[in-house]
Amino acid sequence: MKILVLNAGSSSLKYQLFNRDNNEVIASGNAERIAIDGGLIKHKDGQGNKSEFPGNLADHSEALTKILEILVSPEQGAISSLEEINAVGHRVVHGGEAFKSSVLITDEVKNTIRDLIPLAPLHNPANLIGIEACEKTLPEVPNIAVFDTAFHQTMKPEHFLYAIPREYYEKLGIRRYGFHGTSHDYVSHRACEILGKEYKNTKIITCHVGNWGSITAIKNGNVVNTSMGFTPLEGLMMGTRCGDIDPAIIPFLMKNEGLSINEIDAMMNKKSGILGLMNNISSDHREVEEGFVAGKELETEVIKVYTNRILKYIGAYTAYMNGVNVIVLTAGTLENSAVERKLIVDQLEWLGVKLDEEKNNFRGEERVISTPESKVTVIVVPTNEEYMIAKDTYELVH
Ligand code: AMP
Repeated sequence: MKILVLNAGSSSLKYQLFNRDNNEVIASGNAERIAIDGGLIKHKDGQGNKSEFPGNLADHSEALTKILEILVSPEQGAISSLEEINAVGHRVVHGGEAFKSSVLITDEVKNTIRDLIPLAPLHNPANLIGIEACEKTLPEVPNIAVFDTAFHQTMKPEHFLYAIPREYYEKLGIRRYGFHGTSHDYVSHRACEILGKEYKNTKIITCHVGNWGSITAIKNGNVVNTSMGFTPLEGLMMGTRCGDIDPAIIPFLMKNEGLSINEIDAMMNKKSGILGLMNNISSDHREVEEGFVAGKELETEVIKVYTNRILKYIGAYTAYMNGVNVIVLTAGTLENSAVERKLIVDQLEWLGVKLDEEKNNFRGEERVISTPESKVTVIVVPTNEEYMIAKDTYELVH
């Protein structure tokens, strides 16, 4: 059984073709600069060989048509005919309160995703375009929506409500939703599988820290809280996002610097976080880390602001769950950086956590990095959102 996983952005279409029989990725890639001059499809076959296909892509339908041509071309050898694709799994960013799990896409589902556009004005329209491109190009193939928010829908009101007039929740749906759900879902389940722990009987904190970042508390199979909120801006400091700030800074800047609401929005999403504190030098953890290791003052301060924010959430979530059994580290930074893992884990001694320094010296694989005596197990699990989308898709069409 072959499943195509699609992640549509406003001008891009990422894809992975899975063989669910052996869980292998047969092909993957990204169509870039859709509807912009200089369109390009970057493709990778199952053996990791890369090729590029330049050519303007008028819209997502044309991008999908070209991707499918590549998948069936004898040179790429992924599949011999489109009939081999049994289902398509779509990453959809916002499912609001309407979707608590993945669903088969119908007209009603599309209408609900459309109704949720005010909550995700950049993402949901692109996701819908991706879905409609598939309906047009592969009319016989079922489409499944897998939502970034769905995993967090077990959160209770005491954790998802903001302390603003209740009418804004009731009328406009302003509440914490949380994002990266597919990643938190995957790594928490995988950690329990590796450790032989019962998911429904374990207190887990998952730390997804890459260019973007969020932390989630999962108790006995239910999400208790997660650091991203109404939008992905809340919580951790990120590559270019500020994460938590005093909300009164916004009217202050509007009054005193004359910034418009659009300028504030751009500042908080695109000019803040690592980039902002690093004086625009870089938004990448690797550069901050390099400076920190070399003892540079600016980088040391930035990395401490960053790790302090992570520690704040681990502390709060341990309190919310009245304890923690497993801490899972994932995504670009925590999968790869021994230095940043150590900075965080060394500060968890109060929890009875002990880091095994030798085991921590690696990148990008599944590995327990706490000692056997550690009261809490700390484990690195590389995330795999596409696998999770393929798995949900398979389960819904099988
Ligand atoms: P992701 O958003 O999960 O794809 O992660 C990408 C980010 O991970 C990059 O922007 C880097 O900031 C970070 N990253 C990747 N490799 C390393 C590394 N070796 N050390 C620290 N950060 C890294």
